[in-house]
Amino acid sequence: MKNIKYYVCPSTVKEALAVLLSKKYKAMALAGGTLVSKTLPDTVETYLDLKNLPIKGIRLQGGNLVIGAGATFDEIDRSKLCRSWAGGCVSRAAEACSSQLVRNMATIGGNIARPHSFNIFPVVLLGLDAKVRLQTKKGAQLVDFQDLYSSGLGLRPGLDSLITEIVIPVKTRKWKCEFIKLAKTASSWESYIKLFFSAEKKGKSVIQARVAVGALSPRPFRAPEAEKALLSGAGAEAAAKAFAAELEAARAGEYRSSAASSLFKRFVNSL
Ligand SMILES: Cc1cc2nc3c(=O)[nH]c(=O)nc-3n(C[C@H](O)[C@H](O)[C@H](O)COP(=O)(O)OP(=O)(O)OC[C@H]3O[C@@H](n4cnc5c(N)ncnc54)[C@H](O)[C@@H]3O)c2cc1C
Repeated sequence: MKNIKYYVCPSTVKEALAVLLSKKYKAMALAGGTLVSKTLPDTVETYLDLKNLPIKGIRLQGGNLVIGAGATFDEIDRSKLCRSWAGGCVSRAAEACSSQLVRNMATIGGNIARPHSFNIFPVVLLGLDAKVRLQTKKGAQLVDFQDLYSSGLGLRPGLDSLITEIVIPVKTRKWKCEFIKLAKTASSWESYIKLFFSAEKKGKSVIQARVAVGALSPRPFRAPEAEKALLSGAGAEAAAKAFAAELEAARAGEYRSSAASSLFKRFVNSL
């Protein structure tokens, strides 16, 4: 923080990107400031405040749920659209953020810009097949959330590009979903494990399944064997066993594996 020389507060994404890309400013984006203020690299000389950018709305577009990167956890929690989507799990995930003070300031863009084990939205967006719209020097780019942290993308949001919105596809609107933060207290940022389950049934068959796991590593991951078991109609017991084995392989340890697989079994039994 001691190296900050400039504070810039643009009102358009174009201006903001120009500052970010200018060698003169050595800028870093600042949204709610809840994380960046603790992790600011010494090389940064300019705070690029995003608060005046028109990237805060939550709306329907082409049937998809579009959440502006500048929307706060509190706005997502209270949004009627988010509460009605996928059984309300997007809002419930926002509500699970540690405290009202943080929820008032922290944005979804800031939550996903960098991989972080304990952040809430990465595991939810992975499970919902979300896409992220970025503004880069090459123009607007829509990328799958699962590719956001891949080295192949070659971008460092906040330093050389801006996230402007998150697009959650229309197909997920009616999915039955559950988000679970298994933590010591509801107000903990840290958690033992974060889980996202979703499924869709046609008659007695499960035709769609997502099992995503967060908090074990900076990047969340899917559990393909548990998903496969669910889709094959193997039943709750077998699906939970497959999930526990995947968690063991990911070095989750006995407590996390057994707690998470029990929670998964409960979800499957509720379908
Ligand atoms: C006390 C405390 C408790 C917390 N509890 C939780 C919790 O329970 N759950 C949780 O998930 N997180 C928690 N956090 C972490 C943090 O608040 C969140 O990750 C938050 O969402 C960050 O958002 P922000 O808007 O404050 O981002 P900032 O701090 O402003 O920025 C964070 C990073 O994102 C980049 N960035 C921000 N917006 C954009 C954008 N639009 N485009 C590109 N890059 C961008 C910045 O450059 C920076 O690298 C907590 C933090 C604190 C300090």
